[in-house]
Amino acid sequence: MTLTSFYRGLAVVVSVGTCFAAELYCHKEDASCQSKREENRGGPMDSYPPPTPRPELVVFEVDFTLWPFWVDTHVSPPFKKTSAGRVVDRHDYVLQGYEDVPEILDWMSRQGYTMAVASRTDAPKDMRAALKLLDWDKYFTYKEIYPGSKTHHFQRFHEQSGVPYSKMIFFDDEERNIYDLNRIGVLSILVSRGLTTQVLKNGLEQFARERK
Ligand SMILES: [Mg+2]
Repeated sequence: MTLTSFYRGLAVVVSVGTCFAAELYCHKEDASCQSKREENRGGPMDSYPPPTPRPELVVFEVDFTLWPFWVDTHVSPPFKKTSAGRVVDRHDYVLQGYEDVPEILDWMSRQGYTMAVASRTDAPKDMRAALKLLDWDKYFTYKEIYPGSKTHHFQRFHEQSGVPYSKMIFFDDEERNIYDLNRIGVLSILVSRGLTTQVLKNGLEQFARERK
């Protein structure tokens, strides 16, 4: 167990029963948290015209942005797909994205957005396995998944894609990353209770306004 995993585990234990943690992290089946997220959900994506100009690269962080857990702490590999098509860990906990995420990824892909994931997880192998089993791999042209600085992940995106920071948008649930990336010129959007269609639309509209 790495030091980061240890502290994360400790944080989870300490936070049990506190409102703050329930709202911020929406761990597993926390009903009050889910109702808060509901308030933040927008309408369906299908009738939504993509605002222009569009970002040339859309980057998502993963833990507590696309799915409601830390892959290195809350779930236990190995993961597998059941005959019913669900992805589960060794204790049969179901790994799935936040409610709107499958629709968002599908819509963005059909609209021709180039997407990437960036994660500082301590369990890169497990995250890659879960992304693959969920069948989300196909959506992401670039994947930077390893501990370290988020700005390093974005340097790599720039080197690989040639897209300047000013034409990227980033969604993440951690303020320290939002701060670091905004500082180098990536429009970075804080996702506080899981990515929703409304958070995505607000981000794309902010990008279009600010990059006109
Ligand atoms: Mg996160």
